[in-house]
Amino acid sequence: MPGALHHRIITRQALASCRIADGARLSSDYCIWPDDFHSRYEEIKPYLFIKDGIEFHYLPHTPVEEFYRYWRFLPDKGVTRQAGTRPNDNQRMAEAGFAFYQERIVAALRSGEKDEAYKYLGCLLHLLEDQCFGIHALEGPEGTDIFVLDRLSGMPVCKKLCALPLSEKLYGLTVTPQVFTGDAKEFVPLLYRRYAASAEFSRRELFRMAMEYINGTENEDVIRACEKNMFLCAVQLAADTTAALFALAGGTHEVMSERSLGDFEPFFYPVGGGGSFPLRKCGFDNGVISFGVNHEAKLLYDLPESLYRRFRGKIYGSGIGRVQIKIINAGKAVESFTLTGDESITLSIDAPNGVFGIVSYAVAGSGELHLADAVLSI
Ligand SMILES: [Zn+2]
Repeated sequence: MPGALHHRIITRQALASCRIADGARLSSDYCIWPDDFHSRYEEIKPYLFIKDGIEFHYLPHTPVEEFYRYWRFLPDKGVTRQAGTRPNDNQRMAEAGFAFYQERIVAALRSGEKDEAYKYLGCLLHLLEDQCFGIHALEGPEGTDIFVLDRLSGMPVCKKLCALPLSEKLYGLTVTPQVFTGDAKEFVPLLYRRYAASAEFSRRELFRMAMEYINGTENEDVIRACEKNMFLCAVQLAADTTAALFALAGGTHEVMSERSLGDFEPFFYPVGGGGSFPLRKCGFDNGVISFGVNHEAKLLYDLPESLYRRFRGKIYGSGIGRVQIKIINAGKAVESFTLTGDESITLSIDAPNGVFGIVSYAVAGSGELHLADAVLSI
C-alpha cells in the first residue's frame, strides 16, 4: 500500500500537473487523512465519507463471480435465466462517495473556501491513489482481497507489496491532465469508469511485479517499469479528477455534444458464451463492446437522468443462431427483436437514461454479440 510518502509525492505531482500552486497542505497532510482517520478522528470525521459502516478507503469489491453465480433453470420452458440482477457493491459505494465529494468540493471552490475544498479533495485523491499504486490495486471493481497472491503462491507476497519503495527518479514526473467532463451530471459515472480502468491497469502491473518475486527472478528493469507505470497511472487519475472538479466549479469546460457508451462502466455485464465462443467475459475493444451468449446475457448501465437526447448504435453477432434481444431504457424494455446469422441492426433510442442496456437470450445456438458505434448525444 502506498505509504504517506507515496501519497504526498503523487498528490504533489498531480497538483503540479494541474498548475495548482497553493496546495501545499493538501499534498503534505490532507491526502493522508484516510490513513490517519482513527488517530485524528474528530478533525477528519466530517471529511471522510462513510456508508453502511464502510469508510471511503477500503471499498467493497465486486468479484467477477457476481456476474455468473446466479441462475434459474425453468424446466417447463427448457430455458436458463439469470436470477435477477445483483447490485454492484463497489460501484454503489464508490459512486455515492464520488457524489459526496463532488458536491462539497465544487461548492467550497465556488464560495472561495479553498482550504475546505482541499480537505475533501485530499480524502478523495487518497482513495484513487491507493487503488493505483501497490497492494490495494488488487481490490475494488472486479477485485479481490490483498492476500490472494499469498494463498495462490504460498509465499508472503502481500507483505512484500505492502512496503514498496518509491524511486526518487519518479519524484518529478508530471502528466497532462484531461478534463473528462464539463457537465456535473456526468462527473460521477465517468470518474467511476476511470477509476475502474486505472485499477485494472495497475492490478496487471502489480501482478507482473509480484511474479518477479514469486518466480525468484526479481528483474530490476521489470520491477522499476511496473513501479513507474503504477505511479504515472496514479498521478494521471488524481490530476484528471482535480482538473475536472476545478472545471466544474469554474464552469470553464465545454459540455461535449456526444459521449461514447464505452466511457461508462456497466454495473452488470455478461460472462458466458459457448460453442466457438466459450467463456467470454464482456470485452471493450476499440469502441466495440462484445460478449458471449448462450443463455441469458445482460449488459446494463446506469446513465445520468435527463441528459442525453438520443442513443444510437449497431448490434450484430458472430457465430450466433437466433438471439432474442430486448433494449432496456429507464429500467423497461422499449424494443425487442430477434437477431439471426449475419444480420446487423441499427439502434436509435430516444432519451436514454437510468437503467439502460441490452438483455439477450440465445434461443438457438450460441455465439458472440457486438455493440458498435454506441453513442449518446446531448
Ligand atoms: Zn490508504
